[in-house]
Amino acid sequence: MLIVMDKEATPAQIGVVVRKIEALGYLAQPMPGGERVAIAVLRNPGPVDPAQFLDLPGVVQAIPVTRAYKLVSREVKREDTLISLPGLELGRGRFVVMAGPCAVESELQALTIAARVKAAGARIFRGGAFKPRTSPYSHQGLGKPGLKILKKVRDETGLLIVTEAVDEDSLKLVREYADIVQIGARNMQNFSLLRQAGHCGKPVLLKRGMNATLEEWLMAAEYIMAEGNSQIILCERGIRAMGEHVRYLLDLAVVPVVRRETHLPIVVDPSHAAGRRDLVPPLARAAVVAGCDGLIIEVHHEPEKAISDGAQSLYPDQFAALMQEIQTLRPGGWK
Ligand code: PEP
Ligand code: MN
Repeated sequence: MLIVMDKEATPAQIGVVVRKIEALGYLAQPMPGGERVAIAVLRNPGPVDPAQFLDLPGVVQAIPVTRAYKLVSREVKREDTLISLPGLELGRGRFVVMAGPCAVESELQALTIAARVKAAGARIFRGGAFKPRTSPYSHQGLGKPGLKILKKVRDETGLLIVTEAVDEDSLKLVREYADIVQIGARNMQNFSLLRQAGHCGKPVLLKRGMNATLEEWLMAAEYIMAEGNSQIILCERGIRAMGEHVRYLLDLAVVPVVRRETHLPIVVDPSHAAGRRDLVPPLARAAVVAGCDGLIIEVHHEPEKAISDGAQSLYPDQFAALMQEIQTLRPGGWK
């Protein structure tokens, strides 16, 4: 249930509605919108009778929410969520490109790649210091020293930082260094990590699990938002594919569906879906045309030496060419 308040509703009238919801044993979550406040009713085990709210002063509507996810749903909030970053916004028509290596390998590697992606127009640097690897014997990331390198990239280039937290310990560190905390595909249903991300104080990039339905993905976002963090960027990165021609199957149909179902922005990661460099530019172009709010792309100056995901990493020149193509595909280009 969503209680929509009048534009002129006073804080006292909102308080009355919140207390009424709480007296019924439910959770009330006020959601200030551009024009008016709406109050979501959460944790109700069954349908709630709208009649008990409609005669309270300041209430204009009580809308039953039909979706399993509530706070992330368009039913609950009609206008697009804008992600506010230091000096940069994403969503609501602001298109942003994030780029960088799969993993932070050294200061020289990170600074070299950062300079190139910045020159091409990227605004956010990506690079994992904590890597969730399929094999326990693969490189697991530099850890805290990797985060310090990311800080140096931020200080020297002005690029913002998105980097992954793989568990609760790494999240405590990552939130100190990152502008956006990434939750990877393998952790999309790590509910305790999602909850913690819900009060980490930073926007969260939530990747879709490789086996996740749209509803499971949006429910994962709901976990974060139910803890009070509404700054969530969804990221489509491909789901299980048949055959060997791609690593994962990039689900571009999900882009317009996500836009319809939720107010959250969606970015697309063509790199992890493709698994091979030659497919990254066409998938990226298709994602732009499908209407995403941004891209996250792996770039490496020496991909043949990369410790992870070299085969799918673009050379800096290829990335720069792609950025030029995006300008022609998208009115307004990138930020
Ligand atoms: C990554 O971004 O480097 C990564 C590991 O991505 P995903 O979680 O989508 O596999
Ligand atoms: Mn990677």
